[in-house]
Amino acid sequence: MNLEHDANLYAILQTGFPADRQAVAIETPERNYSWDDIEALSGQIASLLASLRVPAGARVAVQVEKSPEALMLYLATLRAGLVYLPLNTAYHEAEVGYFLGDAEPAVVVCTEAARGWCEPLARAKGAAHVYTLDADGQGSLMRAAAGHDPAFQTVTRAATDLAAILYTSGTTGRSKGAMLTHGNLASNALTLKTYWGWRADDVLLHMLPIFHVHGLFVASHGALLAGARMIWLPRLDIDQALRYLPRCTLMMGVPTYYVRLLADARFERTVCGHMRLFISGSAPLLVDTFREFQQRSGMTILERYGMSETGMITSNPYDPARGARLPGTVGPALPGVAVRVVDDADQGLAPGTPGHVQVRGPNVFAGYWRMPEKTRQEFTADGWFRTGDIGVLGGAGIPDDYLSIVGRSKDLIITGGYNVYPKEIEMVIDAMPGVQESAVIGVPHADFGEAVVAVIVPRAGATVDAAAVLAGLKADLANFKVPKQIHLADALPRNTMGKVQKNVLRQQYAGLS
Ligand code: AMP
Repeated sequence: MNLEHDANLYAILQTGFPADRQAVAIETPERNYSWDDIEALSGQIASLLASLRVPAGARVAVQVEKSPEALMLYLATLRAGLVYLPLNTAYHEAEVGYFLGDAEPAVVVCTEAARGWCEPLARAKGAAHVYTLDADGQGSLMRAAAGHDPAFQTVTRAATDLAAILYTSGTTGRSKGAMLTHGNLASNALTLKTYWGWRADDVLLHMLPIFHVHGLFVASHGALLAGARMIWLPRLDIDQALRYLPRCTLMMGVPTYYVRLLADARFERTVCGHMRLFISGSAPLLVDTFREFQQRSGMTILERYGMSETGMITSNPYDPARGARLPGTVGPALPGVAVRVVDDADQGLAPGTPGHVQVRGPNVFAGYWRMPEKTRQEFTADGWFRTGDIGVLGGAGIPDDYLSIVGRSKDLIITGGYNVYPKEIEMVIDAMPGVQESAVIGVPHADFGEAVVAVIVPRAGATVDAAAVLAGLKADLANFKVPKQIHLADALPRNTMGKVQKNVLRQQYAGLS
């Protein structure tokens, strides 16, 4: 394969399709899609898109429920040389308006239910073509595509050509469109294929949303490039997961998926009889969850770390010869990817010292859409991307090349001039009896600038005594790190990708000090 000349991601994924195109590629509770179906359906949609005669690089914005046809639309967009722009299905009209105004897509695909507001909005923002696609695969898109040729010659693309724009799920400030090239996505998919030992006889349980890097790129690309079957469920559904897991070899999930599996008494070793790998990412996996999962299933969850701008950056090893999967860490940098931890002046820090995580490699995006100044700020002079995460390499008993994420730089609390990394405190609290999980935040404080506040979720049926927690923390941590207040809560606010929404907590507890 000559990546210089044809780097179209679809063409690269296609090299992994099995010789037997009648084999099942995607299985849903309702029907199966063969590899032939993938080629023909994505071919028909690509033929339709090509017939619209929009310029190369035009954006196709998509806000639809998860379905195999939605994946076909993504593949068709790649094949036609256009740029895919998936939007979280939770976004409301005003939010979608911002994305359409910013990205100026030529084509917009929405659900039938949203057409009433989305079509006029899309037209007002300059989109010439609007289609619908529903969860059952019906809608004007598939009706229009049905009349087109399923045999489509995938267009040639260079590795530097844009394949997708992912708007970051950023909880503060304007959402930024991360521009990902065919080369970015292909390099990450090819690296993970080897690193995670993808095989043609793998069966992936796919329950993640496909508007995000995790479900759309990491999971789908992996299976497509391996020629492996996906069991395709619209969302996390524990009953369905328990039904399908015995036939699966691989599952990817955000930490919440693993917590929810553990909460079900039916989840035990026999369910995992064929499983070779459970992968977790998008948010930190609690050490407790890792251990409990190991005990219950006999399987060791592999935690990896990545983001929209970069795809996957680090991963705990799959192959034991490369090292152990260590809880609380996200593993070493992937082959071909470089990671460093630096101080505020971009100078490398010694292992064991927390600092800013920076990354460099073929996976790193081409910049933020129409934000050259922001893009410049987020790269160092020598080309490292500032992830915005605070991490530490090595540390007590951990190999020096293993990264642990200790927080986001915007989550960093500065209290009385001291830096406090929330994760350090959360880890101490989480290890206390009766604690399910915790979130530590900074809230405005007249004396200290910010005051450390802990929000604790007790385990079901357990009680947590705030005074005892405080006493425990005082014994373990420097005084400035000890929370000024402790609050108990039933649950932590999370977004769809399982990330704790600390901004929501900060608002909720802001007035309390
Ligand atoms: P997104 O671009 O929505 O995928 O969000 C990326 C962010 O998720 C990263 O910058 C991290 O802050 C966080 N993240 C992803 N994976 C992990 C992980 N395994 N542990 C901790 N944080 C993670």
